[in-house]
Amino acid sequence: MNITTEPVETYIDTLYKPLSEELEAFRARAENDGIPIILKSTEMFLLNLMNIKRPTNILEIGTAVGYSTACFAKKVKGCNVTSIELDEETHQKAVRNISALNLAERVTVLQGDAETVIREQLSDQTFDFVFIDAAKSHYKRFFDAAVTVCADGALLISDDILLKGGTASDSYIRSRRHLTNIRKMREYLAYLSSLSYADTSFVPMGTGIAITVLGKRG
Ligand code: SAM
Repeated sequence: MNITTEPVETYIDTLYKPLSEELEAFRARAENDGIPIILKSTEMFLLNLMNIKRPTNILEIGTAVGYSTACFAKKVKGCNVTSIELDEETHQKAVRNISALNLAERVTVLQGDAETVIREQLSDQTFDFVFIDAAKSHYKRFFDAAVTVCADGALLISDDILLKGGTASDSYIRSRRHLTNIRKMREYLAYLSSLSYADTSFVPMGTGIAITVLGKRG
């Protein structure tokens, strides 16, 4: 279930244009395999944000099989994309998929926990667009690490922030299993809104996204 109603999401999907036939086939394969890739509506929104921002160095936290990674690299001509995936087997699949799409020259897929990889392997880089789409209870950790490698003015997008509505209201919580994720997501969103050096919009589209723009830091 998404936080928008099914008819709304279905209608927006009818307006979706895949970037290429290859990516259309890639999306279909990933969806058939049950891989949790970005919704079509979120993809359209992110790619249009990239039209506005025109990033040169993109960081993605949570690669899965590399679908969104490939979309970013295809959409923004000449940009570099670094994506981090925890699971070894999934990381290998992503590397193969990126290579099959001839994007390996501009896309690096790293394996490991995103915070550790950022702090240990990416500290000499500067990113201007970050997409956070991994373990929901670790978003604050990912965000704080990402900020250390971001330029002033960078855009950081956090996906799935509304957790099927549970973040907004207890009445949407369907299982006690989700309580920790929901508590941590609420803390994360409160943290984002409290930051003195950044502005965040909380957008109830798809599964919910937060758009943070970094200002000047001390
Ligand atoms: N962004 C992808 C897309 O739209 O095509 C989907 C990513 S999927 C929702 C989330 C991925 O984050 C999973 O493949 C998971 O293994 C990975 N992940 C979970 N915890 C992580 C961590 N600590 N560091 C890096 N990746 C992690």
